[in-house]
This record gives sequence, C-alpha cells and structure tokens, in this order.
Amino acid sequence: MNDATAPALLRTGEDVPPVREFNATGRSPYLLTCDHYGRLLPRALGDLGLPESELVRHIAWDIGIAGVAEALSKHLDAHLIVQRYSRLVIDCNRPPQVASSIPQISEATTIPGNEGISHEAAAIRRREVFDPYHRRIDEIIDARAGAGRPTVLVSLHSFTPVYAGIARPWHIGTLYHRDTRLPPQLLRLLRAEGDLVVGDNEPYAVSDETDYTIPVHGEARGLMNTGIEIRQDLISDPAGEKAWAERLARILGEIEATLAM
Ligand SMILES: [Zn+2]
Repeated sequence: MNDATAPALLRTGEDVPPVREFNATGRSPYLLTCDHYGRLLPRALGDLGLPESELVRHIAWDIGIAGVAEALSKHLDAHLIVQRYSRLVIDCNRPPQVASSIPQISEATTIPGNEGISHEAAAIRRREVFDPYHRRIDEIIDARAGAGRPTVLVSLHSFTPVYAGIARPWHIGTLYHRDTRLPPQLLRLLRAEGDLVVGDNEPYAVSDETDYTIPVHGEARGLMNTGIEIRQDLISDPAGEKAWAERLARILGEIEATLAM
C-alpha cells in the first residue's frame, strides 16, 4: 500500500489528543467521566458536511456539562477524565459495533460525513478517539485498585430539553442498570431537594446495547456507579453550571459519608 491509497490518519499533529484529565491527584473515591464533553472535529473530517448551526447543537455534544464536570471535580477533589471530540465523530458511550456509534442520522439531521463510512475509516475513528479514552479510564481504575483506593464511577451527561418535538419535564435524571447501591441514594437525595423533577432512568435508561462507559467500566468491574443527566437549559450559562456543580457536590459528599468502601 503506498501513500496515495493508505487510509489517512484521522488526527494530525494539529489535532489535540482526545483525552483530557483534571485533578488527576484528587483524593475522592468518585471518578468522574464525561464522554460527550467536547465538540471538536479532527481537521481531516472538515465539518462532516454540516453547517455550524448543527455543530453547536446537542447532537454534537452535551451542552453545559463541561463546566459542571470541571467545577464538580474541584469541589469533590475528584479525578475527572473527558473526551474532547464530538460524538458525531464517534460516540464514546456506544459499543463501537452498533449503528449509532458513528451516526448517519442524529435526531432529524443527516450527517453527510458519516454516510457510507467504510469499515476502515470507522476503525480509524475508533483507534484514534474511542480507544485512547476508554483505555485511559481502564488504566486509572487499575491504578486506583492497585493502590487500594476505592472507585465510585459517576458518568456525567446533559440532555436536550426538547427531543423530536417532545418537551422533557425532568431537571435531572439518574441513569443506571445493575448497581443497586448508589442510584437509589442519589434519587432519594435529589428528590429531597424539593424543587426538582427527578428522572428515575429518565430521559434514558442504561443498557448494554446503548451504553458503554457504565456497563464496561462500572458494572463489569464491580464498581459502584451511576450516570447523571442534567437538562441543558439549566446549565447553559456559568451561573447555572456553578449552581449545579455545587448542588451535586453537596449531595455526592453526603452519599460518600454513608458508603461502605
Ligand atoms: Zn452524553
């Protein structure tokens, strides 16, 4: 294979690595992850055939969660690991073999740059974005276990207030599947706040078919875990991000004091 026919590498020297970490020496048992933190596109993919107006929407990333995650990491003194490329490149919370891993349609938007993608091109996206992120999460969990430190995995997301024309009533939701320890406590304390509509596995439920981070890093490794989804209009400005980070830090701190680890 010569240079003309070799598949181009997705990321060049001008593209940042997909993984970024905050507060890596944090002492908290909580390990925070953010699969849909960023909306970068590798230069080689151009704009995926989409106008800027689509590339800033929720189909590209989890609006508002970056600010919440970074502040929460500080408040809890927790290690945060995030993935900076758009989920339109490859969704880091989908098993790579499912069709929505590299979506050809998201909500009602066709993604021209993903239509008819070859197996080779999909494999390159996996190798250069998905794999490094999940490999690093694995390494962090291994290192903590090796050091005798507990890990409670919290996967942070945000959701659009209106999806396919339907308004969503929840302010926040807990997302879980097999963990019966952490999510019920989180639900109870969120409901005790008194001013929140709290989703119990809403607007999404975790499953092996539609999720990756919780099933693979949380459940398969026997860690306490939960997903948290915050509605995007509540965290669309710095004041909202700050308020939600403070609220979650208080609640997760309260839970930490009760967990036998
Ligand atoms: Zn998300």
